[in-house]
Amino acid sequence: MKYRKFGKTGENVSVLGFGMMRLPMLDGSAGNSYRKGAQADIQASIDMLRKAIDSGINYVDTAYNYLSGMSEKITGMALKDGYRQRVYLATKAPVWLYNEPDDFDTILDKQLSRLQTGYIDFYMLHGLNKNNWRDKVLKLGLLKKLSDAKISGKIKHIGFSFHDSLSVFKEIADYTDIWEFCQIQLNYIDTKFQAGIEGLKYASGKGLGVAVMEPLRGGYLSTLPESVSSIFKSAGISKSPTELALDYLWDMPEVSVVLSGMSDSAMACENITFASRSEAGMLSEPDSELYKKAAAEFEKASVIPCTGCNYCNVCPMGITIPYNFMVYNSYMISGDMDRWKEQYENQVTMFGAKASECIGCKRCEEMCPQKIEISCYMPKVHNTFR
Ligand code: SF4
Ligand code: SF4
Repeated sequence: MKYRKFGKTGENVSVLGFGMMRLPMLDGSAGNSYRKGAQADIQASIDMLRKAIDSGINYVDTAYNYLSGMSEKITGMALKDGYRQRVYLATKAPVWLYNEPDDFDTILDKQLSRLQTGYIDFYMLHGLNKNNWRDKVLKLGLLKKLSDAKISGKIKHIGFSFHDSLSVFKEIADYTDIWEFCQIQLNYIDTKFQAGIEGLKYASGKGLGVAVMEPLRGGYLSTLPESVSSIFKSAGISKSPTELALDYLWDMPEVSVVLSGMSDSAMACENITFASRSEAGMLSEPDSELYKKAAAEFEKASVIPCTGCNYCNVCPMGITIPYNFMVYNSYMISGDMDRWKEQYENQVTMFGAKASECIGCKRCEEMCPQKIEISCYMPKVHNTFR
C-alpha cells in the first residue's frame, strides 16, 4: 500500500480509502440496493473491511445516512478487536437533518455510539452546497460546533464534503481556516463538474487534504464501451477500466486518498493491487491525452450524471430512480436496445416503479447531490424504451 500526506491534518493516509456505502447485501446485490428492505450482509462486510485493513488500507469512510445507519453500525462492529487503532475513521454530519444547533451534538453522540468509538478522526459536514451552507451551516453556527467538538476530543480533524459549483466551493473553502480537508467528486469524465480539477488544486493550494469520491462515477467507468476501451488499447495500454480510472486520480499529487465503495473482497484485493503500484506523476503527457479522448467519447453518449447514491429514494410513486437511469445510460453507451428495453420492461419493475409513473413533483430533486433535473429526464427515459 502507498500512503500520502493528508494536507494540514498532518496524517498519512492510504491512497485507497474504503468507502462503506456499497456494502454487500444478503440478496447478493451491492449496498444502496434498489430493492426495498434489502439487508446488509454484516459478516461479509466485516470480513471484507478487516481483510482490507490487513492489506494496508488505513482510511475508512462512512456517513450517518449510508444504508439508513447500518453502514456506521457495521463499521463499528468491524473495527472492534483492535482494528479501530489501525485506521483513520471518517464520517459525516448530515447537515440537512439539523433544525437547531443542538442537533449537531445529539447526532455526533449517536454516531460515536454506533461506531463504538470515543473519537472520529476525520469529521465532515456532509454534502455542502450553496443552500445548506447558508441555511444550515451559517444559520445554526455549525462551524463553532465543529470547533467545540474538536476541543472536546470527539473529533480530530474538520472537513466538508461537497456537491455544488466551483464558485461555491471556493467560497466555502475561503470562509474559515478551520478546514483541514475536504472530499470532492472527481474522475476523468467529471474534470470540470462541481469542484473539478480546479477545485482540487485550489483546496490543495490552501493546505487542505483532499479525498476523492466517485472515482468510477457510480460504476460507469468500470465497464467501458468498445469505443472508449479501444482508445486505450490502440495505444498499447491494457489496464482494466477500474485501474485506468484510479490511476488517473493517483497521478495527481494533490489527491491524497481515493475512496472506493467496495462490495466484495475480490474487488477490494484488485483495487489494493492497483494502489500498490500507483505514483503521483505516473502518467505521461500522451496518456493524459488518451483520457481526454475517452471523456469526449463518453460525452457523445449523453449519459445522465447519476452516481447511484440513492439519496433520491423519496419518490411518492415508488420509482427506483437510479435503476431507471442506469438502464437508460447503459443503453446510451452500448446502443443495445433489445437488452436494455427488456431490462426496463421487466427488471426495473422488480425493484419499484418505472419512469412512466413520474408525476413531476420534484421531491427527489431536492435530495440529488448531482442536481439532476430528474423530473425532466423521466419522460425521456420512458420514451426511449416505449
Ligand atoms: S419528480 Fe417524479 S421521480 Fe421525482 S419524486 Fe416526483 S414522481 Fe418521483
Ligand atoms: S438521481 Fe441523484 S440522488 Fe438519485 S441516485 Fe442519481 S445522483 Fe443520487
